[in-house]
Amino acid sequence: MLAGRVAVVGGSIAGCAAALAVARAGAGEVVVFERAAGRLADRGVGLAVHERRYAELEAAGHLDPGIPWVRLTSRPWLVREDARRAGRRVGALPFGFRSYDWGSLWSALRARVPSCVAYERGSAVERVLPGPDGALLRLAGGREERFDLVIGADGYRSAVRAATRDATVPGYAGYLAWRGILPEEELPGPAGAWARDEAATVAFPGGHMIVYRIPGPGGTGTGANWVFYTAPADPAHALSVDDAAGLPPSRVPDALTAHHRAVVEEHFPPYWQEVVRRTPKDATYVQPVLDLCVPRYGEGRLVLLGDAAAVARPHSGSGAVKALQDATVLERCLASAGSWKEAVAAYDAARTPAGRAVVDLGRRLGRAQVQATPDWAAMNQAALEAWWKRASEGEGSFGGQALDVGREP
Ligand SMILES: Cc1cc2nc3c(=O)[nH]c(=O)nc-3n(C[C@H](O)[C@H](O)[C@H](O)COP(=O)(O)OP(=O)(O)OC[C@H]3O[C@@H](n4cnc5c(N)ncnc54)[C@H](O)[C@@H]3O)c2cc1C
Repeated sequence: MLAGRVAVVGGSIAGCAAALAVARAGAGEVVVFERAAGRLADRGVGLAVHERRYAELEAAGHLDPGIPWVRLTSRPWLVREDARRAGRRVGALPFGFRSYDWGSLWSALRARVPSCVAYERGSAVERVLPGPDGALLRLAGGREERFDLVIGADGYRSAVRAATRDATVPGYAGYLAWRGILPEEELPGPAGAWARDEAATVAFPGGHMIVYRIPGPGGTGTGANWVFYTAPADPAHALSVDDAAGLPPSRVPDALTAHHRAVVEEHFPPYWQEVVRRTPKDATYVQPVLDLCVPRYGEGRLVLLGDAAAVARPHSGSGAVKALQDATVLERCLASAGSWKEAVAAYDAARTPAGRAVVDLGRRLGRAQVQATPDWAAMNQAALEAWWKRASEGEGSFGGQALDVGREP
């Protein structure tokens, strides 16, 4: 391994995985700078990891079966039909995922960061000044530190990405994600309306809502995690890219809230209307859906990981997986390269196409499931399968690409 100082900017999912990867590859000194001073574990949302990607990431030493999870197997597609309280199933697709509570997943990744890594909370990097043989970080308060390698794991508004030649910025995809978590005991009856292993999808013209169970914080109980995608009735009501971390209900413009309610009222079967209505307001928020993909994952002594490098629309089910894969590949590149230049070039060559592929897949799935929806009600099982095959074929795989593309059985 290359001796030297490595900075990781951002201490979330990508940042913790990167810190572990770099320490395992044998870096001399690793410092994580995380802007948030408070508890990241409280960012409570659900996310799902495909079973095959889980197996690769367990083998790579990033995930383990002890992190609380719920097994999901099937994704029924439901449309409103007045006689049926939970809607009519037009068909079901396989959905081999493990669902997680974001906070529990992050806590497990944080716990894996070895004690030799300095993890500084409340440390915001204000500027990154790249040089020929390293980069200077300017922190809030004026402190400056020089590193041999700087890893940008600082999310969709990355300061590290801003210091690269292209300084790529995220683009608004044209629609919003409304998210909420309803505790299991609040789920409307009767029990059995919705099986525990199902990622139910309520489909309507111009969008859909996916609902799956996630473990409660710390593994206690389960909650119904829902994400509802729809475009604002008036494009002028779009949220800013800067709101992508999520707006609480008090900050969502009234016109958007009214549109959201109207779509639920008009298109959702009664059972799913109740799921949304019963969700405590403070357990909901709204985000604009973004697309972002850098042309280069590595440049000089800067590398990008996770959402700092590429944000795929959530339909691809691959954001956390991609971040952990980035860290896995970075570790391999650092461990086997003879120079920083060689390591950055190898990482860039491996991950730039992988990022592009999942972002492209997210765009295609977004078009099919939100922006140009089919006549769901006219579908049956065969039509649903054919539509999904068309929507998802091409580069990228649902749930994330194989870690070593081409080597998957
Ligand atoms: C609606 C939705 C659903 C999703 N569903 C899934 C799913 O089913 N499966 C899946 O795998 N993924 C999913 N994801 C994506 C996934 O959550 C992210 O891709 C993943 O968490 C990787 O995040 P990250 O660590 O790169 O970035 P982030 O979590 O954004 O972390 C960036 C960190 O950097 C810090 N930071 C930022 N700027 C600075 C700075 N200047 N100095 C210091 N620190 C800084 C921030 O405080 C933050 O902690 C979903 C995302 C959304 C929005």
